[in-house]
Amino acid sequence: MTDTLADSRTSSRMFTDGVPLVVEDVTRRPAAERAGILADPGFGRHFTDHMFVARYEVGRGWYDARLTRYAPLQLDPGAAALHYAQSIFEGLKAYAQPDGTVATFRPEANAARFVRSAERLAMPPVPEQAFLAGVDALVDADRDWVPTGPDQTLYLRPYQLAVESFLGVRPAHEYLFLIIASPAGAYFPRGVQPVSVYVSEDYVRAAPGGTGDVKCAGNYAASLLPQQQASALGCDQVVYLDAVEKKYIEELGGMNLFFVLGSGADAELVTPELSGTLLPGITRDSLITLARDMGHRVTERKVTLDEWRSGVTDGVITETFACGTAAVITPLGEAKARTGDFLVGAGVPGTLTMALRESLLDIQHGRVADTHGWLHRIA
Ligand SMILES: *Cc1c(COP(=O)(O)O)cnc(C)c1O
Repeated sequence: MTDTLADSRTSSRMFTDGVPLVVEDVTRRPAAERAGILADPGFGRHFTDHMFVARYEVGRGWYDARLTRYAPLQLDPGAAALHYAQSIFEGLKAYAQPDGTVATFRPEANAARFVRSAERLAMPPVPEQAFLAGVDALVDADRDWVPTGPDQTLYLRPYQLAVESFLGVRPAHEYLFLIIASPAGAYFPRGVQPVSVYVSEDYVRAAPGGTGDVKCAGNYAASLLPQQQASALGCDQVVYLDAVEKKYIEELGGMNLFFVLGSGADAELVTPELSGTLLPGITRDSLITLARDMGHRVTERKVTLDEWRSGVTDGVITETFACGTAAVITPLGEAKARTGDFLVGAGVPGTLTMALRESLLDIQHGRVADTHGWLHRIA
């Protein structure tokens, strides 16, 4: 990476047709300061030296795409996103590879999902190639911020928000597309521990026809109160049920769920089907493929709370885990519900849960061959 504009890779410097991706000369924080942060990055607390910003205006399209110094935004107090939540986001990671390069994991899938989220919120989509160009440019500029410790990563947060100052209710005419990056430590620094969950029978995450299948900011705002309820009961996460019958298990506030039926080579995996109210996780999709590679049957279907509880009690369901980009795979331990508490898998991480976790982490960190072509190397 060079900080100057004298970079010869002009083809990688386009954001969209006719819109160059300008790399500004920015100041870096001292190496010692960066090393101090990378020694214990935590999650989402520290940000890198750069950010990526592009603008959109109706009638003009995308313009002014630049990699610039990480700095506060100036927003008009009337900016639409602040009032009506016309705001979407993505989450993906960059991984230091054993050969010294850096790779992201299935970024095309994030780019495609970002388009679907934009369309649902009546926002102009960021073209997939432009999304990828922005991510590559930021990771390239902040390569030194990709931590190399065990299970450490650089978390990338692309997002898009309506910035037109207008209080009428209609799709805004002006938008920002931004990408910021934050070094992330190992999710389980002291070894993988099962999380406890609270099954919310009062609140729902998503209703048919709503926005549950896209990554919009508003979904998360609505999940904070049930999360507080769960915390008050000593639980780490919330399990949501379907909005109509309050019977079927959907997902956690930000992670998809898998159930393991049986054990050993014959174990079968079941995951709630994408009914339109679930977020189609890229980790979920990857694990379906990996489990099938390992010879396991994987079924996408409806699972009721009753099936889960009785399955755990009578031994049919041996393991339950949640998955998502941030935590990769998290085993579930204790489950609390108004209709009765139960314990999954004796409260210790399951065998298949841990095998799938290792398998995915090995691919992401470049420790095994990437046979599905999931890694995207940053040139
Ligand atoms: C982002 C997200 C997930 C996980 O998706 P990944 O692509 O695997 O990170 C699951 N559920 C919800 C509600 C999410 O927002």
